[in-house]
Amino acid sequence: MTHRTRHPYVFRGAVHCGVCERRMQGQYAHGVAYYRCRFPQEYALPNRIEHSRNVYLREDVVFEPVDNWLAQLFDPDPA
Ligand SMILES: [Zn+2]
Repeated sequence: MTHRTRHPYVFRGAVHCGVCERRMQGQYAHGVAYYRCRFPQEYALPNRIEHSRNVYLREDVVFEPVDNWLAQLFDPDPA
């Protein structure tokens, strides 16, 4: 029996950084899925973008509201 404990990055390819709008990369840290944007400082400076070297987004922070939103979308009889 296959036991799949690691879930995939559910929003892989769909999460974009709110600062620079680049696609974020999935990453696992401490058993939690994150999306990470690494923005090179040599891009940030000439474009005058204020961007941390790394921007992290915890997947579980986003998952629940998106899941609820999707549930609403597919609810044939919304309250
Ligand atoms: Zn970014």
